Parts: sequence; C-alpha cells; structure tokens
Amino acid sequence: MAKNTRMTKQRKAILRVLKNTKSHPTADWIYEQVKKEIPNISLGTVYRNLNVLSELGKIQILDYGSTYSRYDGNPENHYHFRCEKCGKVFDIHVDLFDDINKIVNEETAFQVNEHRLEFTGLCPECQNKN
Ligand code: ZN
Ligand code: MN
Repeated sequence: MAKNTRMTKQRKAILRVLKNTKSHPTADWIYEQVKKEIPNISLGTVYRNLNVLSELGKIQILDYGSTYSRYDGNPENHYHFRCEKCGKVFDIHVDLFDDINKIVNEETAFQVNEHRLEFTGLCPECQNKN
C-alpha cells in the first residue's frame, strides 16, 4: 500500500486532467487527454490509477449502473444531475448531505455512513431545444 500512495508522474497527470474539467469524463476521455502529455501511457494504466486515486480519496468514481463509469476530480460530498437527452453530468450543490444522513439515522434502526442520490431530467440546453 505504501508504494501505491506515491504520486507518480502518470498519476499526477491523470489527477491534473480530472481537476481541470467539470465534465465528469469517462476513462477513455481522460486517457486521450493524458496521452498528449505521456504518449506511451495505456488505457489499463489510466484505469488502475483512477482506482488508486479514488481509494486515496482524491477523486470520486460515479457509477450509478450506467454503461460507463464517470470520474470526478472533486472528492467532496455533492450531488449530480444527469441529462437524459445529452448524457452530460452536472454538479448540484445543495446542502442536504448531512441532513439526509441524520434523518435516516434518527428515524430508522440503521446507522448511516453514506448515501447516494442522482437526479435525472433535462439540462437547460436540452429544455430549450424542445
Ligand atoms: Zn442535456
Ligand atoms: Mn461532481
């Protein structure tokens, strides 16, 4: 594990790409970007490093059972909105995280540590196209 936490050149490049976008990209997209800087990097290496970065708490993997996982350079608790038409994923910043955990904690027999919630519908751009 100690060797795993080292911020290698590859890992740093992947993290930088992810921190510099708000698009919640797929691993393929990240791979294409990192390749511009490190031409001989492989897709497998990108996947492996994304998993390590997630384990280190530096990024989030967004996996809601859709086809491809998406990645988020913001590790803080926040919600996402996925547009049903264009497929883009947006950040939703509302202050609900602690409240929802607290309510379920208090009103059920369960001890809550985390929860997941994803909003879907139409983004502003796709609403205008209708
Ligand atoms: Zn849309
Ligand atoms: Mn996000």
